[in-house]
Amino acid sequence: MLRCISALSIALFFLSAAVHADAESAKATAFVHVNVLPMDREHVLRDQTVLVRGDRIVAIGHRIDVPADATRVDGHGTAWLSPGLADMHTHSQTKNDLAVYLANGVTTVLNMGDARAGFVDKIVPAVNRGELPGPHVYTGFLVDGSPDYNGFVVRTQDEARAFVGLAKTNGYDFIKVYVDLSPEVFSAFADEGARLGLPVIGHGVRAVRLERQLEQGQVLVAHAEEFFYTFFTPLGVEETDTPPEVGRIPAAVALAKRHATTVTADLVTYAAIAHQIGHAEVVAQFLARPDSYFLDPNDRLHWQTSDYVGKSARLEAKLEFLRRLVKAMADAGVELVAGTDAPAVPGCLPGFSLHDDLAELEASGLTRYQALTTATRAPGAFIERTKHGDHFGVVVTGYRADLVLSARNPLDSLATLRKPLGVMAAGHWRDAAELDALKARVRASYRQASAGY
Ligand SMILES: [Zn+2]
Repeated sequence: MLRCISALSIALFFLSAAVHADAESAKATAFVHVNVLPMDREHVLRDQTVLVRGDRIVAIGHRIDVPADATRVDGHGTAWLSPGLADMHTHSQTKNDLAVYLANGVTTVLNMGDARAGFVDKIVPAVNRGELPGPHVYTGFLVDGSPDYNGFVVRTQDEARAFVGLAKTNGYDFIKVYVDLSPEVFSAFADEGARLGLPVIGHGVRAVRLERQLEQGQVLVAHAEEFFYTFFTPLGVEETDTPPEVGRIPAAVALAKRHATTVTADLVTYAAIAHQIGHAEVVAQFLARPDSYFLDPNDRLHWQTSDYVGKSARLEAKLEFLRRLVKAMADAGVELVAGTDAPAVPGCLPGFSLHDDLAELEASGLTRYQALTTATRAPGAFIERTKHGDHFGVVVTGYRADLVLSARNPLDSLATLRKPLGVMAAGHWRDAAELDALKARVRASYRQASAGY
């Protein structure tokens, strides 16, 4: 009898463990009494229930029954739920950086090259499966034609085709081109990338130029300022500090529109560069910012020794031009995505600088809705179109549950997103205390590292 009971209880134990495992894999969270800023179009929904199961938003409405197993997050009618943010130009590849992005409400990043294999084949899949805290990561494989610049050097069409295959095998999503490829090699990347599903993204290539690149299917221009180098400045003419005539802006907008090209509106990056050229004290100010506690010591060293300070250009006038270009693109409906180049460019901190970029966009005349679109709906639409990938970037049923809970309506103050009340990444909810703990862990690890110096 005793044996029977224990056999039965063991069976029950396994049964309940199995049921529990199922419930675990499709854990539910209900946000109740929240105002929603869906970002699918410019509107708000007041006092809603948003139900998440697994990694999906499964229901949104006034009268939704909250399942008994759901964790409740109460917005008390005052908190706002908006999409998680995306930084579409990063160079981060540490677990610590990924944790800091998440603590800043950044739930998607596009790594724009230099990512080592150990990051792409180990850390990225673990983060994307939800086993490590961080944003969903997409990666670009960086290629160039000269060792003077960045990335793997590729000089022949055969090499280019082989590299696309290698990048696919190793889990990269895009081919990122740098400035010095030959036209033949660029064409091979564009062809083979299209064939294998790794579209070309990246810089203006000097010998090809943006018009030909976009014609051949490059889907994203990695910096708005690439238009200076390979569109506005004629081939063979030296780049100067004088911006192009404002009257030429419509031609650049028309080019991006014609090819439905996405442009990274990384105003924070260009502004940081403009401010630090010739000014070592600006880099010191960046590093004195309290948010810089969360900068990796290796990047801190890189910032202190970066060569921008030693240059002599004056980029203020071009920065003003870039602001007007980006605003004109936003008004014309060019798909703009936010990006920061963090932490490669001094002043651009992982996570924090995405909020700086949104502030720069607003200061450049974009409405708050236009600015927030660059970090939510537009990155989602870009990935959906180019990778036939996951649906994210809006608070809509069926989309990935990447969400930020904030004290105010972000359309009244984008700065409210700097201090999230909580962040959900792929259905995994962390409240402000948990986000602070993530940051504290990162800071403690750097204190330990620097104690050795
Ligand atoms: Zn970059």
